[in-house]
Amino acid sequence: MAEKSGGVHFDVVTIFPDVLDQLGNIGVVGKARQTGLIKLRVHDLRDFCGDTHRTVDDAPYGGGPGMVLKAEPFLRVLHHISESQGVPDSVVLLSPQGKTLTHNIAERFAEFRHIVLFCGRYEGVDERVSGVVTEEVSIGDYVLSGGELPAAVVLDAVARQIPGVVGDRESVTADSFVRPMLDFPHYTRPSAVNGLSVPDVLLSGNHEDVRLWRKRQAVKRTLLRRPDLLVDAELDPEEEQILGELAPGKFGSGAKK
Ligand code: SAH
Repeated sequence: MAEKSGGVHFDVVTIFPDVLDQLGNIGVVGKARQTGLIKLRVHDLRDFCGDTHRTVDDAPYGGGPGMVLKAEPFLRVLHHISESQGVPDSVVLLSPQGKTLTHNIAERFAEFRHIVLFCGRYEGVDERVSGVVTEEVSIGDYVLSGGELPAAVVLDAVARQIPGVVGDRESVTADSFVRPMLDFPHYTRPSAVNGLSVPDVLLSGNHEDVRLWRKRQAVKRTLLRRPDLLVDAELDPEEEQILGELAPGKFGSGAKK
């Protein structure tokens, strides 16, 4: 991998470039593009067909329903990208059969300098494209009609992990999954909504009490919603103690052996 000079350069390959152009202009990703921490180039697969009809798909060998995206346009676009931008650190095919995207993968991708994202459509992509793909990534165990939304999900998740993209670093490090712990609940004005009030501690102005309350809430909801995250988790002493109170003997350093 080349020396990292800050920021990640994405090349997205799709038959619907408008979708990525739009999604890449909003929110955190849009801002990161303005500040140069993300570079996003969107390539229309049809520009690399090599025929005047701009045919990107064909019927599957062996028969059966649907169409398959042809291999050559992907190989051509990758050649074009490598010639003009240098060989990418990673060529990712969005696929329901890939590794499920996690915080760790997003963090790892944020270390790269240059990533190519291939978006499939129809029945998928000709298997021979896998020869140039370095990894396949899924955004969950369900099938979407195309890789454009998954590519936008990868872009957003990776962008958040690039230092400087999200202004307040603390808001990223407190996010769910950064540690094996879900985020604590958030409240904003007004202090009463439909008779539901904000927990008193958050109005108390006592920062230490607020910090401990949030920690307790984070442990509590992780225990309730995602106890799997707590198995073998490395917790800090305060979290260990809270967990010991909430679920005695179940998790934590002494319990899991
Ligand atoms: N027949 C394929 C699914 C094709 S869906 C199969 O069963 O494995 C068409 C395209 O949408 C895929 O090539 C992929 O790029 C994208 N896609 C669909 N679901 C996805 C998911 N969960 N994660 C990432 N990409 C997905």
